[in-house]
Amino acid sequence: MTVELISVGTEILLGNIVNTNAAYLAEKCAWLGLSCYYQDVVGDNEERLYETIRTALSRADILLISGGLGPTQDDLTKEVAAKVMEKPLYLHEESKEAIRRFFDKRGMEITDNNWKQAMVPEGCIVLDNPNGTAPGVIMEKDGRHIVLMPGPPNEMIPMFETSVIPYLNRLQNGVIYSQTVKICGVGESKAESMVKDLIESQSNPTIATYAKTGEVHLRVTAKAEDEKAAKKLVKPVVKELKGRFGSSVYTTEDNVTLERSVVDLLRANHLTLVTAESCTGGMLAARLVNVAGVSDVFRAGYVTYSNKAKRRLLGIKKSSLAKHGAVSKEIAREMAKGAALISKADATVSVTGIAGPDGGTEEKPVGLVYIACNVCGKITVKEYHFSGNRAKIRENTVSAALVFLRECILQYYSEMTFGGKDK
Ligand code: ATP
Ligand code: MG
Repeated sequence: MTVELISVGTEILLGNIVNTNAAYLAEKCAWLGLSCYYQDVVGDNEERLYETIRTALSRADILLISGGLGPTQDDLTKEVAAKVMEKPLYLHEESKEAIRRFFDKRGMEITDNNWKQAMVPEGCIVLDNPNGTAPGVIMEKDGRHIVLMPGPPNEMIPMFETSVIPYLNRLQNGVIYSQTVKICGVGESKAESMVKDLIESQSNPTIATYAKTGEVHLRVTAKAEDEKAAKKLVKPVVKELKGRFGSSVYTTEDNVTLERSVVDLLRANHLTLVTAESCTGGMLAARLVNVAGVSDVFRAGYVTYSNKAKRRLLGIKKSSLAKHGAVSKEIAREMAKGAALISKADATVSVTGIAGPDGGTEEKPVGLVYIACNVCGKITVKEYHFSGNRAKIRENTVSAALVFLRECILQYYSEMTFGGKDK
């Protein structure tokens, strides 16, 4: 089945807000096995909205429309969509009650225009909106379906996940189930070449590769009559991928990020962590702090941007800085060592590099980065060459630091097991 996304709102058209709803929905549709050939953005204008919906209806089975369900005059999506579908609106008592409860709970006064949100097209399915006042709507006519959802992502996403996905699955006469094998430390082209044969020989499940910064995600998607059957199709393929990529697979769980897997690894080994950052200026610490409850593992993050800070906070010798320069293997090592000495953390990771656009030389070009990891006194340093602008270089560095730290911890414990090293 085909789907078309329509994002309603002059703010999007003018570039005042970024159309994250469309990005989210497009990704979900691919995941659900729906083909999306067009995405539209249209302002809060009755005529143009009417025309957009009409055109989209002529070429897609399902329209997913977000925005313009609010109580004000310029919110016209429901009225216009109902007009296109030739469905009159009526007052939906349960929605009226839900709106009343929403306002009462917050001690807010209801204004008359709020009741507009309780009007819904005849014969539609009304979707609950526990996070706002505008209910969602699904209309069907002649085998075409229109789904209306509120614009704010914190309302649209839960509504889509709770009410719209089950509806779409029912329409498709089956269930799409996906599992993602997330790998790190392997480049996109290498990863793709390692699964090329599988991609070419499979049609259900399919395997799709997605490159992320420092990671590659392999999504295995199967279609079957129910979830159990779909999971059964996905399972052996995931197992095969895990076998091929070995320890580069950091998770097969959708909600586990690279930083979370690193934090889990530290926690499982009872290791505390401290970071010492130069060119990333705290971004690595911020990535780690994305993980809720990280405080039992992550102790502190030093942002030692200047040479003086490196000396004062990490105890780096002035002579070392003069001899090797701040961006060097030696200083990365000393930063990791100094951070460990000062903080008594079990593991430390340090980064120093040239993020540009200035400051590069022939010998030390922009994009040169050194990362050092110290796991219980064993320090390893690695040299990287990243390309792109300043933001990209810093983002790459943070991901690389997480990947490298993970590698060093795994390496440390595998040596302990096989080489008889003591902690
Ligand atoms: P409201 O009741 O808040 O008016 P609404 O359904 O009428 O909700 P809009 O008025 O279109 O939605 O948008 C409200 C807000 O939701 C926007 O200011 C913006 O912050 C967010 N929003 C709307 N559409 C999108 C989108 N496509 N992507 C990301 N955010 C969006
Ligand atoms: Mg609005």
